[in-house]
Amino acid sequence: MAELWIWPVALGVFGAVIGSFIATLVIRWPHDRSVMVGRSHCDSCDAALGPLDLIPLLSAAISRGRCRRCAARIDPLHWQIELIALAIGAIAGLVVSGPIALAGAVFGWLLLALAALDVTEFWLPDRLTITLALTGIAAGMLGVDPPLFDRLIGGLAGFSSLWLIGAAYKRFRGREGLGGGDPKLLGGIGLWLGWQMLPAVLLLASMTGLAIALTSKLTGRGGALDDRMPFGALLAIAAYPAWLFLLGYTP
Ligand SMILES: [Zn+2]
Repeated sequence: MAELWIWPVALGVFGAVIGSFIATLVIRWPHDRSVMVGRSHCDSCDAALGPLDLIPLLSAAISRGRCRRCAARIDPLHWQIELIALAIGAIAGLVVSGPIALAGAVFGWLLLALAALDVTEFWLPDRLTITLALTGIAAGMLGVDPPLFDRLIGGLAGFSSLWLIGAAYKRFRGREGLGGGDPKLLGGIGLWLGWQMLPAVLLLASMTGLAIALTSKLTGRGGALDDRMPFGALLAIAAYPAWLFLLGYTP
C-alpha cells in the first residue's frame, strides 16, 4: 500500500521546494536580480538567510512572514506560491503515479510560474513558454499520453488560433487585445494536452475570466471589464485541471 501515498507525499514536498524557487523567480526576474543563487538574502536588508529561513512554508509560519533581522514583511507571494506548488505536486501524485505524475507536476509548476508572472507583471517570458513547449515535446517522445502527433497538432493549433484572433482584433479595433505571449502559451499548452483538449481549456479560461470580471463588477471594485485581464494566467489556470482530467480518465 505504500506506493499509494508515496507519490503525492514526495511530489508535494518536492513541490514546496520548487515553489520556493518559483516564488524567487517571480519576484526577482522582472527586476533583473539574480535568481540562480536562490533566495539566499533578505529582499529588504540583504542579510544572508540561514537554512532555517529557507524551509518552504515552515519558515514563513515560524517567522510570521517577517525577516528575523530587519523585521521587514516578507512578500507573501513566497508562501502562497510554495503552497500552490505543493498542492500541484500532491494532486498530480494522487491522480496518477510514477513518471507520469512527475511529468504532470512539471507541467503544473511551469504553468504556475507563468500564471504568477502574468498576474504580477503581465509578462509571459519566452524562456518559460519555450521551456513549456520543449518539455511537452519531450514528454510525448518519452511516451507520456497524449501521443506526440496529437501534441504537435495541439501546439500548432493553439499558437495559430490565438495569433489569428490577436491579429484580427488588432486590425479591427486598432489596439492590442491579446498579449504577445498568449499564443505562445496556448501553443505550449497544446504541446502538453494535445489538440483535443484545447477547446475545453479556452472555454474554462474564458468562463473563469468572465466570473472574475462579473464578481469585481458586482462588488464594485472598478470597471473591471475594461481592465486588462491576464488572459495567459487564465489559460494556465485552466490547463492544469484539463491535464488532470485527461490523465485521470484515460484508460
Ligand atoms: Zn531583512
